[in-house]
Amino acid sequence: MGPGPADVHPRVLAALARPTIGHLDPAFSAMMEELKGLLRYALRTDNPLTMPVSAPGSAGMETCFVNLVEPGDKVVVCINGVFGARMRENVLRAGGEPVVVEDPWGRAVDPQKVEDALKAHPDARLIAFVHAETSTGACSDARTLAQLAHAHDCLTIVDAVTSLGGTPLEVDAWGIDAVYAGSQKCLSCTPGLAPVSFGERALGKVKARQRPVRSWFMDLNLVLGYWQASDGRSGRRSYHHTPPVNALYALHEALVMLAEEGIEAAWQRHRANHLALRAGLEVLGLELAVPEPERLPQLNAVAVPGGIDEAAVRTRLLETYNLEIGAGLGALAGKVWRIGLMGWSSRADNILLCLGALGSVLNDMGHTADTGAALSAALSASA
Ligand SMILES: *Cc1c(COP(=O)(O)O)cnc(C)c1O
Repeated sequence: MGPGPADVHPRVLAALARPTIGHLDPAFSAMMEELKGLLRYALRTDNPLTMPVSAPGSAGMETCFVNLVEPGDKVVVCINGVFGARMRENVLRAGGEPVVVEDPWGRAVDPQKVEDALKAHPDARLIAFVHAETSTGACSDARTLAQLAHAHDCLTIVDAVTSLGGTPLEVDAWGIDAVYAGSQKCLSCTPGLAPVSFGERALGKVKARQRPVRSWFMDLNLVLGYWQASDGRSGRRSYHHTPPVNALYALHEALVMLAEEGIEAAWQRHRANHLALRAGLEVLGLELAVPEPERLPQLNAVAVPGGIDEAAVRTRLLETYNLEIGAGLGALAGKVWRIGLMGWSSRADNILLCLGALGSVLNDMGHTADTGAALSAALSASA
């Protein structure tokens, strides 16, 4: 129950063990086409350019920046946690000029500050922000930020690594131009793959580049020769790199499971389980660090009560109860625990284990709380 990887379902693990076939095999091509369709379903987009990058979420981030940022491009970058700071680094390395909009760790990106930055920098070409900041548990208003971007003639790059599958994300309806995600958060697949999707405007910017993309591996013009040229004629696909065949079986299975559940039902399950956890935490006298309207259901930052050694609690949870929760990062280091309820990990049995174990460990450490009442509160909240 940390900030990812989430538990991987046995069906997904079984998919990994299927025989490895050639990556230009017609059967593999057919699976790739299905995979792209399933990703479009999960991302709520019709973008033809929707595919998994053969590397972790960070490579999805880098794919967006190296393709969309040209040397000299001004990019408004919103930083309210670890991953926004990495976006800034990506802009710099792509030769762009970041304009940073900062918000406190544990809060959403403030659209007013973004609008001010866009007004102050009318030559900005892009805005980049993290939808679900896993380092703090804050959810930003992606719809409003994308609207602002378009009103100021900018493209959007959105980090949806933790939001995909766990919280409403509407790539087309919100007008998001480029988005990247990860396999191991709310999709509950193994780590190592990064779904990305580019809309027409974003693709237009890539095609109109003056200079080639600096990364050979992530240059979409080349990657597309492999991922996109199939449209039923698999013979036309050409070798670019050998994709992680078995990992792609796993992602396919995870997405089939998501489609079986229904994306809206998955969002609802994440929300209901978050409310159950919250009810139990309240009885234990523990507070969530992010204000209510900005909270992510799949990543719960819990304030460490005074006088408690936060690292000792995590060690006890792991050693005695085989339960992992995350530590705080950056500005929140030592101040919060991060409890993940992502994908297949977002389940009633996990919530009861977590509340019971946490209550027991805290009681041992002198923070008195009624663990039984916390379990009852969680159960009645989810009933
Ligand atoms: C996990 C995560 C990433 C990075 O994904 P990796 O698979 O670890 O490379 C990027 N952004 C956010 C918001 C994340 O939660």
